[in-house]
Amino acid sequence: MSETRQRDDIVSLAKSLFDRGLTFGSSGNISLRLEDGWLMTPTGSSLGDLDPARISKLDSEGRHVSGDAPTKEAFLHGAMYDRRPNAGAIVHLHATHSVAVSCLHDIDPANVLPPLTAYYVMRIGTLPLIPYFAPGDLDLARAVREMASDHHAVLLANHGPVVAGTSLRDAVHATEELEETAKLFLAVHGMKTRPLTPEQVADLRRRHPVRT
Ligand SMILES: [Zn+2]
Repeated sequence: MSETRQRDDIVSLAKSLFDRGLTFGSSGNISLRLEDGWLMTPTGSSLGDLDPARISKLDSEGRHVSGDAPTKEAFLHGAMYDRRPNAGAIVHLHATHSVAVSCLHDIDPANVLPPLTAYYVMRIGTLPLIPYFAPGDLDLARAVREMASDHHAVLLANHGPVVAGTSLRDAVHATEELEETAKLFLAVHGMKTRPLTPEQVADLRRRHPVRT
């Protein structure tokens, strides 16, 4: 796929996320791996109104080479790519229901959401909670890097999800699945629920191993 097409894909998928309320203001950022570096949404930009020509381009060392300056959360993406050589794209949002779950007191930090549906198990699997760090604190990158070898999706406490995919569409769809499952979890929270059994989860993992 040409870089022009990849830039257009970032713009249209970002606008779709914004138009459906999955991100707001200038929050959220997207990156995509190129053969010789990365494309990344610029700092201060709205995902609803990106200009393909102004998307940041970084070289293979992570240095800014063209376009506007990259998102201040570029280090989150870098930490994930560092440990996931097959990741082709990463989406990070402050999506409301995912953030709400990340603020709950009684969640399991090793795996935040129960396996409510097969699609959640297939697209996300397990979701560890990364402890809270102030915006820009580079210890957050260290914490993400520690988890990223074993998980293509993590949830930052009181902040939001970071999700890698083999392609941009894959990363967007997995982020949407996470947000919808967070919404579902909040809808049934406190009710007697019947998540998938460990046997059902193991069966799904055999049939649909996560490739990211
Ligand atoms: Zn963020």
